[in-house]
Amino acid sequence: MINAEPGAATVLECDIAVVGGGMVGAAAACRLAQAGLRVCVIEAQAPQPFAVDQPLDLRVSAISPASIALLQDCGAWASVLSMRACPYRRLETWELDGMATRFAAEQLGVPELGFIVENRLIQLALWQQLQAQDTVTLKVGVTLSALEQEADAVLLRLSDGCSIRSRLVLGADGANSQTRRLAHIGVSQWDYRQACLLINVDIAGEQQDITWQQFTPAGPRAFLPLAGSHGSLVWYDAPERIRELEALSPSQLADQIRAHFPSRLPEFCVTGCGSFPLTRRHALHYVSGRVVLLGDAAHTIHPLAGQGVNLGFGDVTDLCQRMTAAIEATLPWDASSLLGAYEKRRRRENRLMQSAMDLFYLTFSNDLPPLRVIRNLGLMAAEHAGVLKRRALRYALGL
Ligand SMILES: Cc1cc2nc3c(=O)[nH]c(=O)nc-3n(C[C@H](O)[C@H](O)[C@H](O)COP(=O)(O)OP(=O)(O)OC[C@H]3O[C@@H](n4cnc5c(N)ncnc54)[C@H](O)[C@@H]3O)c2cc1C
Repeated sequence: MINAEPGAATVLECDIAVVGGGMVGAAAACRLAQAGLRVCVIEAQAPQPFAVDQPLDLRVSAISPASIALLQDCGAWASVLSMRACPYRRLETWELDGMATRFAAEQLGVPELGFIVENRLIQLALWQQLQAQDTVTLKVGVTLSALEQEADAVLLRLSDGCSIRSRLVLGADGANSQTRRLAHIGVSQWDYRQACLLINVDIAGEQQDITWQQFTPAGPRAFLPLAGSHGSLVWYDAPERIRELEALSPSQLADQIRAHFPSRLPEFCVTGCGSFPLTRRHALHYVSGRVVLLGDAAHTIHPLAGQGVNLGFGDVTDLCQRMTAAIEATLPWDASSLLGAYEKRRRRENRLMQSAMDLFYLTFSNDLPPLRVIRNLGLMAAEHAGVLKRRALRYALGL
């Protein structure tokens, strides 16, 4: 790894500049460095190192088998497991008691449906791989000041006065992407009429292997198991209600959880909470000249099925496979046709998942009696749908 000196007024030349070294940007940087390209990662904030006795982070993700395969290819998965991760083997969702849809790993013949992992630990494991590569430069603690497209490169000016000239820029700087803005890529967006409170809890008993979610007209209530006897509760509700809940003391919040979560929740104590607004966004283009968007910079969705970063990792897999195949065939890895094919394929996949989440959100976020009957019959039908149910699960897990 090359650690660029902060403040040095140089123009660094590279093949790929990745803006944003979060989970998605770091995974893309790993794969492209492995393919032999000179990569520079520009990240505003380095992830905090891991310590065994640290409290668990609030930001966690349900990682699908397809995403695990990517992290394995990056060489990062073993490191994630050596820190903290919790496999889940069962998934259950319902609105009315007795009308649930249940999924189990054994129905698919796989050891688990996925893992719940703190976002920071995935990012850290990827950074360990980046730090071991001598073709990777990490520029930490800086942001973009300007982006200029040239004929065969992009010139990036950074907040520390340095500049980078790169053949391709990957914008993986999250939902409010500065890269997207500086590349003049528009976005269609709307706010869901819900916000979300993430609550970390210590639970009585052993590590759980089930994640469940109950739909209510105000929004879903979900439980995600975490490593050890810990869990993450997700409370979706109107933004004003979420603000009220966030302002409560831990014991007052625990009382509200007992009153409004399913009674199957084990005895618990609240250890931390934080709220997040929910916005659906889709960039109007994923590619503009030599700038390519991935992950939340390109799309955000309602997190009720935990698909956000899995879609971002899908972008990484698709783009890096195309570029690696071009390198192996000694073809240009930055050809506009290659980037156009990436955009076409990923836009279709991401829009499909966004629409599916919107359908769930709209169908379940109201109290109209006829719709209530229909959606619960739908859940019951899904429970008995056999092959179709297995297919839907395979699709969601990227199998
Ligand atoms: C409440 C909630 C629950 C969720 N649960 C799940 C789940 O269970 N499963 C799932 O798959 N997804 C989930 N998601 C979605 C998931 O968190 C996101 O899709 C994922 O974090 C996107 O990763 P990313 O790397 O694209 O962006 P980010 O995680 O936002 O990373 C962007 C990185 O870029 C850096 N950065 C930003 N701006 C700049 C700049 N100008 N210059 C340099 N660096 C910059 C940031 O510091 C950050 O490191 C959830 C989201 C929410 C809100």
